[in-house]
Amino acid sequence: MNIHEYQAKAVLKEYGAPVAEGVAIFSADEAAAAARKLPGPLWVVKSQIHAGGRGKGKFKELPADAKGGVRLSFSLEDVVKNAREMLGHTLVTAQTGPAGKVVNRLYIEDGADIERELYLSILVDRSVGRPAFVVSTEGGMDIEAVAEHTPEKIVTVAIDPDTGVTEADAARLCDALELEGAARADGMTLFPILYKAFMEKDMSLLEINPLIVMKDGRLRVLDAKVSFDGNALFRHPEIVALRDITEEDEKEIEASKYDLAYVALDGNIGCMVNGAGLAMATMDIIKLYGAEPANFLDVGGGASKEKVTAAFKIITSDPNVKGILVNIFGGIMRCDVIAEGVLAAVREVGLQVPLVVRLEGTNVELGKKIIAESGLNVIAADDLDDAAKKIVAAVKGAA
Ligand code: GDP
Ligand code: MG
Repeated sequence: MNIHEYQAKAVLKEYGAPVAEGVAIFSADEAAAAARKLPGPLWVVKSQIHAGGRGKGKFKELPADAKGGVRLSFSLEDVVKNAREMLGHTLVTAQTGPAGKVVNRLYIEDGADIERELYLSILVDRSVGRPAFVVSTEGGMDIEAVAEHTPEKIVTVAIDPDTGVTEADAARLCDALELEGAARADGMTLFPILYKAFMEKDMSLLEINPLIVMKDGRLRVLDAKVSFDGNALFRHPEIVALRDITEEDEKEIEASKYDLAYVALDGNIGCMVNGAGLAMATMDIIKLYGAEPANFLDVGGGASKEKVTAAFKIITSDPNVKGILVNIFGGIMRCDVIAEGVLAAVREVGLQVPLVVRLEGTNVELGKKIIAESGLNVIAADDLDDAAKKIVAAVKGAA
């Protein structure tokens, strides 16, 4: 689960991390009052959407030369004008996809005088099985570009969960970020604080880009992106309360109601598969034959007919879906249950696109019989390879 920048900063502030004063607003009428609560003379008006790259983003409704989604403002009038231009408009950034995201909240923040912009994140480094800090002196910009062109400028420091961030770890991070004087002292206290927040709140990602050294030599968290481990949310009702479902994909929200592992993607072949590994393999093989999956979907082991019906409906509700591939290896999941679920869904919502079904395993003959006798226009497939070829051909033929 993701939260907004201003919410992430509030969480980090509880732990004692240095963040600017700020006020979140939902309407431009609140902008002037919000800005008056802050000292000025520089205010930053920041779009709150669950995506990065806001500063360089573009608003769909505004002229191409209009400013982006993070705006420095030098007067109260400027704050209000920027708030009016941003709220309710669609911001397109490198991370939103071409559709963009509507800005429904703004964060008005006390502006900082920046000396240097650094990069810092904490994530779980699976290769060493530990949480790790990833830092770079090249902050503020696209860290993926830094990783690609100057990977030596990215330093990773894995943390032993038994000890937490040691003095030596913190010193290594300070060295990597070339922190000196007051900034170094700030770093020595900040890194353990960030680690504590990461661990206690069950974050899966904490990204601060940029962490800044200000003109006065102090450190400040200027941007914050936090994702939480969904499996641990039951221990954090205070985090669940921060959820903004307007930022989430409707199909994913619907899927979560049925406990389906579903992720929307950009392609046009809808996939219904059981087992995460088989789902990944199915997506790979669709790509191998030159098409793109519209989603990842694992219906799970003992899915009921209702769950399968819901899954099928979610797939068909995606207007990008031009063909569907059902790929089931019945182990715990029974092929006849899948067949019944598919039929129930088709009866309710109809079937406008080609459907390829590959069934194998428990009750496969019964499953195939149910589909064959349904009168549905289903293309049967013998194995995964055959199924992928058939759905790609069907979708390409229809295009
Ligand atoms: P992002 O574009 O979504 O990553 O949003 P950020 O919060 O990282 O802001 C983008 C950029 O705006 C930063 O890298 C800074 O260069 C600039 N910026 C943000 N806040 C301030 C501020 O308080 N003072 C100054 N001078 N620049 C800021
Ligand atoms: Mg940023």
